[in-house]
Amino acid sequence: MDRFVYADNAATTPVSAEVFEAMKPCFETVWGNPSSLHTKGREAKKVLDDARARIANVFSCRPDEVYFTSCGSESDNWAIKGAAHRMKAKGRTHIVTTKIEHHAVLYTCQALEKEGFTVTYVGVDGDGVVNMDELKAAVDDKTALVAVMYANNEIGTVEPIAEITEIAHAAGALMFTDAVQAVGNVPIDLSQLKVDMLSLSGHKLHAPKGIGMLFIRKGVFIDNLIDGGGQERRKRGGTENIPYIVGLAKALEVAKEQLPDLTRVAAMRDRLIEGLTKIPYSKLNGHRTNRLPGNVNVGFECIEGESMLLLLDMEGICASTGSACSSESLEPSHVLLAIGVPHEKAHGSLRLSISHETTDADIDYILEKVPPVVARLRDMSPLWENVQKSNVNQ
Ligand SMILES: *Cc1c(COP(=O)(O)O)cnc(C)c1O
Repeated sequence: MDRFVYADNAATTPVSAEVFEAMKPCFETVWGNPSSLHTKGREAKKVLDDARARIANVFSCRPDEVYFTSCGSESDNWAIKGAAHRMKAKGRTHIVTTKIEHHAVLYTCQALEKEGFTVTYVGVDGDGVVNMDELKAAVDDKTALVAVMYANNEIGTVEPIAEITEIAHAAGALMFTDAVQAVGNVPIDLSQLKVDMLSLSGHKLHAPKGIGMLFIRKGVFIDNLIDGGGQERRKRGGTENIPYIVGLAKALEVAKEQLPDLTRVAAMRDRLIEGLTKIPYSKLNGHRTNRLPGNVNVGFECIEGESMLLLLDMEGICASTGSACSSESLEPSHVLLAIGVPHEKAHGSLRLSISHETTDADIDYILEKVPPVVARLRDMSPLWENVQKSNVNQ
């Protein structure tokens, strides 16, 4: 192995040194329960309040609009189930979402269907952009919630959230966006973007796994998901995870400071796209420009994505075929099917998700290693012969 290149940052990221340092005192000294009235408790409460205020500052929102959860999936579940259950009393029992959401959103919507809610799954175009006409037609006075992801985790396409928010609000519905992939990769100012709720997850931006956040705008009311103690202004029970909350605050501040550096990341992404799509019978999945700065997703005909991953892993390259969650199943990605990739081609995609830590030398290395792996797998594929024959006959 000449090199080790981690290009799977959309699945998870390592905890950065700054975040680790910021969390350390919370294990060593600030270990109190913020609900305790004594010195140890007050010390922890102060650290908690400070982290919340700093996060509010990052997003230009109010500290009391920040709710800590255990992960992105919990935030997604809470936003959707909480809004649906609350809005039901107003006769609103319909949810509008898209076909390309993360499973934390899709399966939550399916669970609500079993309870009697109706859900419209709006389609997307060939680049993965939400079909706005379809969305407009779906939203009406029975709609409780519109849930559309800010950016897709597999193909990186960034959605027109501001425009979708206007449509939701015009119909009196709440607007929620799963911004787990977008936060840290796209500037988000919640004094400008009028969404009612937004979810994020620590481990996608160099904080630890097991910390998430839900922004709930002041004046927006949703039912609780986790009942319990009076934490998070009585809306989310559970003793606060102070070290991880402090880690999340640090990670969000660092990510905001590093936003200008994303031009460099996007340039590396473009070099990867250009190089990989030079391989014959390959195609970029997702929008060419309106995509996350670190996301590359290329489909190769006559290739099994899993085999490609194993061979790349042997070369020291960590990549993915789609979302880490679906790569354990043999079902083709619902996102690729939604953008119109045919079933038989949906297995041959490669997702590379790079970050600030990626270097130009890493990109060179990937561009050197992928083409021979693709060629080798195609040589072993009975389908490849047919593709080449049919090409000769044309
Ligand atoms: C990773 C991810 C989630 C889930 O976050 P966890 O913290 O792993 O539960 C939700 N939505 C999107 C878009 C994601 O990429």
